[in-house]
Amino acid sequence: MIRTYIGLGSNLADPAAQLANAVKALQQLPSSQWVGLSSLYTSDSILPGQPRYTNAVAALDTHLAPLALLDALQAIENAQGRLRAERWGPRTLDLDVLLYGDKVIDEPRLRVPHPEMQARAFVLYPLAELVPEAYALSDGRTLRELLQACPFIGLERLGPPQ
Ligand code: AMP
Repeated sequence: MIRTYIGLGSNLADPAAQLANAVKALQQLPSSQWVGLSSLYTSDSILPGQPRYTNAVAALDTHLAPLALLDALQAIENAQGRLRAERWGPRTLDLDVLLYGDKVIDEPRLRVPHPEMQARAFVLYPLAELVPEAYALSDGRTLRELLQACPFIGLERLGPPQ
């Protein structure tokens, strides 16, 4: 089993409910074992004029290969009616593979560690609830160092989902 961390985000159609549904779907992924969920966090969208986002990170252990995992996540996104009209537009549900063990993946469909997670407070802070601070990326930077470079600004930490 490989420990993988999945980023969850939503800013449409009752984001907390979207995340709760996504958690139920992740708990039923084949060949996988649920580990846990971070707190929920809300933050303003990076882009102006969009509703606030709700984000969290889930940990699971899986036998699914990385691309099979991505397929499963995209099936969950599609089942929850994700709107894909705009590349960076609002979305009912966004699921990202943040980490997959200590594997580095650089393929057209899948880049892991997720290239945008390293400077995003709404990913790093929930991730840090689940991953030891000493966890290091392949370039040697620890999660603690990434957090120190990424202040907790504009984030609001909520409790875990019901
Ligand atoms: P986005 O619309 O920002 O969620 O981007 C979705 C696209 O990113 C999909 O076509 C995926 O194939 C690709 N992608 C690349 N790396 C990842 C990753 N680590 N997790 C999820 N999607 C990824």
